[in-house]
Amino acid sequence: MPELPEVETIVREIGPRLEGHKIVRARLKKTDVLRRVSKPRLLRTLTGNAVEEVSRRAKHAVLRLASGHRLVVQPRMTGSLIVYDRRPTKDETKYAVLTCTLEDGRFFLYRDVRRLGTLWLLDEKGWAAYTSRIGPEPLEETFTPFVFAERLQGTRTAVKKAIMDQRRLAGVGNIYANEALFEARIDPSKRTHKLSLDEFARLHAAIRDVLERAVNSSGTTVRDYRTGVGERGRFQFELKVYGRAGEPCVRCGKKLVTTHTIDLRATTFCPTVTVLSTSSSSGICVCPYTMISARGNAACSLCGVGWPNWSPCVTTIAKPSSSTSATCGRRERSSRSSTLPYTAVTGASVSRSVRISGFPTSPPCRM
Ligand SMILES: [Zn+2]
Repeated sequence: MPELPEVETIVREIGPRLEGHKIVRARLKKTDVLRRVSKPRLLRTLTGNAVEEVSRRAKHAVLRLASGHRLVVQPRMTGSLIVYDRRPTKDETKYAVLTCTLEDGRFFLYRDVRRLGTLWLLDEKGWAAYTSRIGPEPLEETFTPFVFAERLQGTRTAVKKAIMDQRRLAGVGNIYANEALFEARIDPSKRTHKLSLDEFARLHAAIRDVLERAVNSSGTTVRDYRTGVGERGRFQFELKVYGRAGEPCVRCGKKLVTTHTIDLRATTFCPTVTVLSTSSSSGICVCPYTMISARGNAACSLCGVGWPNWSPCVTTIAKPSSSTSATCGRRERSSRSSTLPYTAVTGASVSRSVRISGFPTSPPCRM
């Protein structure tokens, strides 16, 4: 199923080609994809309406129309959204479910081979109810480790299941749940309420990192997914665990293991998943006080000092003290980092941090 990066890719590609354009004709071949709308009402609403904005919510593409309605498309396994500058060929329209002709003669198609996807037409009120049932967007700036922990706290299910629950977190499905848990070095079957604060922070950073990299690679094509211009994604070449059962772990060389016992879907992980390496340069460093994270090779966003090989430094950062030269990992921090006033950089995130009980409230680390 297309997850967040795939739908984001589609939306970014078709958005500029649809926004501001008027639908002059709409045809619907099959009605079994429709939700909350009849065929006559859908066609009546679309015809003569203009697309004002194309956006994404969780794994769905959302077309906001001039009338205030939203056409919500969930492509699921085999659906795709494509804009054609010319009349599509017979082959291209073979599985077209919805075909819209634009005022400038171009075509907008929703195609779905097995028709597992759905089309919803919602008014303002329907949309508000719809979107309120979905969790926060992981790539939005407001999605902090604190928001993440708040959403998951008290959940007793396996953490993999919890992060795929769209009511708790939007857009993450099986592929990226597998990848993020591997990157964060967390056992996918671990009960969510047993996660430490460090683990929440690592998982938060890993989810964002994996999703961002996948968006930059136009998503993952394992089967049917195509981008909004009909091309394959490229993130399948960067997958570290998903679909790699039996292959060697990229971190330790041990054979990756697959289980279906967590959620009946394939969960692939490294048997040494929870063993924290101190030598890898690809791990994520997280400061437990600022919750600011960086990949192993990245520079600290607070002070700009590089963090090579601090992986994961969260376990080795000393408790903050009046000392200005704490050490992290094997590397002594440069004293110049302590001259940078912490609040100048992080601003509001500090006050947010004190709201969740259990998170440290005392002076943030000055890295
Ligand atoms: Zn491994």
